[in-house]
Amino acid sequence: QWEYAPAPESRDIANLKPTYRPFIGGEFVDGSGEPLQTINPATEEVLAEVGTASVSDVDNAVKAARKAYDRVWGPMPGTERAKYIFRIARLIQERARELAVLETLDNGKPIKESRDTDIPTAAAHFFYHAGWADKLEYAGLGPQPRPLGVAGQVIPWNFPLLMLAWKVAPALATGNTVVLKPAETTPLTALVFAEICQQADLPPGVVNIVPGAGDIGAAVVEHPDVDKVAFTGSTAVGKHIQRTLAGTRKRLTLELGGKAANIVFDDAPLDQAVEGIVNGIFFNQGHVCCAGSRLLVQESIAEELLDKLRARISTLRLGDPLDKNTDIGAINSAEQLAKIEDLVASGERDGAQRWSSPCTLPDKGFFFAPTVFSNVEQSMRIAREEIFGPVLSVLTFRTPDEAVAKANNTPYGLSAGVWTEKGSRILWMANRLRAGVVWANTFNRFDPTAPFGGYKESGFGREGGRTGLEAYLHVQG
Ligand code: NAD
Repeated sequence: QWEYAPAPESRDIANLKPTYRPFIGGEFVDGSGEPLQTINPATEEVLAEVGTASVSDVDNAVKAARKAYDRVWGPMPGTERAKYIFRIARLIQERARELAVLETLDNGKPIKESRDTDIPTAAAHFFYHAGWADKLEYAGLGPQPRPLGVAGQVIPWNFPLLMLAWKVAPALATGNTVVLKPAETTPLTALVFAEICQQADLPPGVVNIVPGAGDIGAAVVEHPDVDKVAFTGSTAVGKHIQRTLAGTRKRLTLELGGKAANIVFDDAPLDQAVEGIVNGIFFNQGHVCCAGSRLLVQESIAEELLDKLRARISTLRLGDPLDKNTDIGAINSAEQLAKIEDLVASGERDGAQRWSSPCTLPDKGFFFAPTVFSNVEQSMRIAREEIFGPVLSVLTFRTPDEAVAKANNTPYGLSAGVWTEKGSRILWMANRLRAGVVWANTFNRFDPTAPFGGYKESGFGREGGRTGLEAYLHVQG
């Protein structure tokens, strides 16, 4: 049973002392930014008041990170760093239940996803990278892999703790120190993570967390004493950061948006494909950069597949994210819900055929019924733009060449899925798909051992695997 403290009523919270505050130099501090309220998107109630960082707090955080890098963390042998990172991984496991509930309250995602995916995968990232900390010299990365210094990291709201883990774990393993800004709608688990750093006795300043809005993210990435910038978020902001950093010496990796094709051939195991399509687009309400948001189905089986798909989607349970039977939780914010509604309206105007699951939406909170558009043309906005919600656009193809052409007909290049019994066809497709990740007969698989990232407008750089370490290292001859 997942018990939790009910959200406080929207009373006079201005007088409550913020319990969630910036974490700088190993201490929680009263940030001098304007406090922000984070709400539970499933109830629209205020969940917590969060103290935020100002630009001068960011400066203090970078100073603390620099000092920790120079004096302690940079010179520390990998065997010692590994002990701290293992400790962090264990503490995430110990506090997994609390983290899962908090993530679900703050983000709106179903508890079974935060419990079974977000939190355990975050712990797995720390375990995996702890294992690297004392082996970098032997990894074939170059004669003397050296850290870069202070990493400035900015993350989005869709997988708050997991995105933090993707960023912080490789930075620490390679000997860098960190200033991280969580997303403004989901700062809470990052601040519990700060407590975990204290519990793990991590030297002060190795990890600093600065909650705030986009201006604070900009202050982190633009700070002159930051050596490496890692950003995950929208393509628009990623491009802006790239322009801003042009002419600086900083190393940059960008993990941006996507419009992935999930491609189903007529010989695919259909029931398995249906599960993969549902997981591909409805996992985390579709708030997934690599979501399989375009279904490309071979024409001869399109009708049969769509019938099966609609029947399966009708069984998905939408509602209270804390109910462990819930499949579809809340959309993270009113703003994101409005964006989804706008794109869905454009699909209807453009003449695509809309079908939405006949589920009942709760009276309160931000919810959107799982939706499938058929008769979609490539020119429509719903086929081109990232919706970042539970909305699937279905297109058809006749030949493998046509499938490749349609799959690649997007400015993005993050992920793709191929469903077929033929192994040779999987390889043929993977060779031609312009995507950083290609899944075969599965979708949305995340593993710390595998490099993840995109190209084209999905960004550059990889997170995870040996390749992910390179983003935080230079090689000394
Ligand atoms: P966003 O770009 O609006 O915000 C992301 C983060 O950047 C937030 O913390 C925000 O405060 C901060 N930010 C905003 N303006 C900034 C600026 N000028 N300088 C520095 N930081 C700034 O994106 P979002 O709406 O929070 O997240 C959704 C997007 O993230 C989607 O496009 C999704 O595809 C993408 N995403 C990509 C990956 C990936 O690995 N490729 C993973 C998750 C999400």
